[in-house]
Amino acid sequence: MKFKTCSKCNKKKSILKFYFRKDIQNYRADCKECVQAKRRIWEKNNLDHYREYHKKYRLKNRKIILKKGKEYYYKNDGAKKRRDWRKKNKKREHETARLYRLNNPEKIKKKQQTQWKRIKNNKELLLKQKNRLAEYRKTNKFLKWRENYWKQYFSKNKELIRARHKNYYNNNKSQSYLRVFKRRRNVLQQTPKWCDYKKMLAIYKKAEKMRDKGIMVNVDHIIPLNNKFVCGLNVPENLKIIEDKLNFSKSNKFIPFLNYKIYGTKKYYEMLKSKNYKIRIKSF
Ligand SMILES: [Zn+2]
Repeated sequence: MKFKTCSKCNKKKSILKFYFRKDIQNYRADCKECVQAKRRIWEKNNLDHYREYHKKYRLKNRKIILKKGKEYYYKNDGAKKRRDWRKKNKKREHETARLYRLNNPEKIKKKQQTQWKRIKNNKELLLKQKNRLAEYRKTNKFLKWRENYWKQYFSKNKELIRARHKNYYNNNKSQSYLRVFKRRRNVLQQTPKWCDYKKMLAIYKKAEKMRDKGIMVNVDHIIPLNNKFVCGLNVPENLKIIEDKLNFSKSNKFIPFLNYKIYGTKKYYEMLKSKNYKIRIKSF
């Protein structure tokens, strides 16, 4: 191997560490390191010129640069390099992403819209997106956010919420009554699992309509829920709409073996008031 001493740093080096000049068909007098150092100093002192020159060069040779870059990227597994860099510089990555989002809201919106269009038309992607959302909703981050959101919402819209509740109550009175009724303990105990709530609600709604027309009626249990001798069930079959006028003295009184057609009629209340009632109870 040939050796040469550099004219600048006076070190003896292999000939491969010197640039070859094609015009004079000989090696340069100063070594590669010295040339590069000199060049770096020149670039610092002539930054504008340097930048302008490179800009022009890049514009002129765009295709070549891109092609070379691509080749280099695939040869050296650029994707992996990129991934590794991102792992190492997570903070910087997040910061640049945040700044980009702040500075380009319109671009981001457009991108989201196109992405959503793509997902919308693909069933598999839609399912994936749904699952991802469902999992995100289980995380502590989301739960905290939601708690905060509703707290703020309630404190901001107190009156609106109150008005909405009142409106709902007025439009669904019978349903509200039923709900209050359901909450009472003894009623709950006497409501079997097979109770048809829809049928029950219908009866309460019918009574409400009658009250709206001016007929004062109430929904009553034929066999009372709370009596000395019997405990009726809270089921629609045990409910009857009766007039308030007749109901005044009834409370939880009960006549055994009564035909249900008589219940709630004038005859029934006369029976309750009469001495017969006490005799009937004794014989029971
Ligand atoms: Zn040198």
